Amino acid sequence: MTRVLVVEDDPQIVRALTLSLKARMYEVGTASDGATALRLAAAYLPDVVLLDLGLPDMDGIDLIRALRGWARVPILVVSARHTPLEKVAALDAGADDYVTKPFSMDELMARLRAAIRRTEDVGAGESGIVATDDFTIDLLAKRVRRGEEDVHLTPTQWQLLEVLIRRPGRLVSHKQLLQEVWGPPYETQTHYLRVYMAQLRRKLETDPSHPRHLITEPGMGYRFEK
Ligand code: CA
Repeated sequence: MTRVLVVEDDPQIVRALTLSLKARMYEVGTASDGATALRLAAAYLPDVVLLDLGLPDMDGIDLIRALRGWARVPILVVSARHTPLEKVAALDAGADDYVTKPFSMDELMARLRAAIRRTEDVGAGESGIVATDDFTIDLLAKRVRRGEEDVHLTPTQWQLLEVLIRRPGRLVSHKQLLQEVWGPPYETQTHYLRVYMAQLRRKLETDPSHPRHLITEPGMGYRFEK
């Protein structure tokens, strides 16, 4: 059974989440503050953590950092904080995804399933091959194919694509992408990303203006979806 740790101090939300999760056959543990959450994360070994950022004893961002010190468990933030800056802070601290309150239970459950799937399916695995309906990437050979054709990518395009592909489904912040591809001095140059993502979409997407695989999360970052 998949174990979900719900970290939330609002009893009504805890009740609603617990009911919905149990109805979907998840095992649920709950913590109403950060200290309990850390203790339970270690003792209960959840498969995924749903985390509210506004906790009574600790800021959720600090809790993400504390968890990330030793745990690779996916963390899905569920928060009323809705500015891009706040979302990016959570992602940069190590959260995997972000859902804004008030949330639709169906959307939350879909994101939860995606977060769990990502840990089971670690992207390319040992083959190094990532296949979508539109293109296939061989991470070891550093080759991209669309149908029968090889797609030529510049070294920078390749690096950007690789950072996203290695975290399938995960929202990667502008800052993370810029740091990994161009280096820390460039972490505010988000226009680089717009230019290079447009180039990648033209080369890889069937309809570059409606991308299915290289997804923009406005104000936050990008996501690769198979
Ligand atoms: Ca709260």
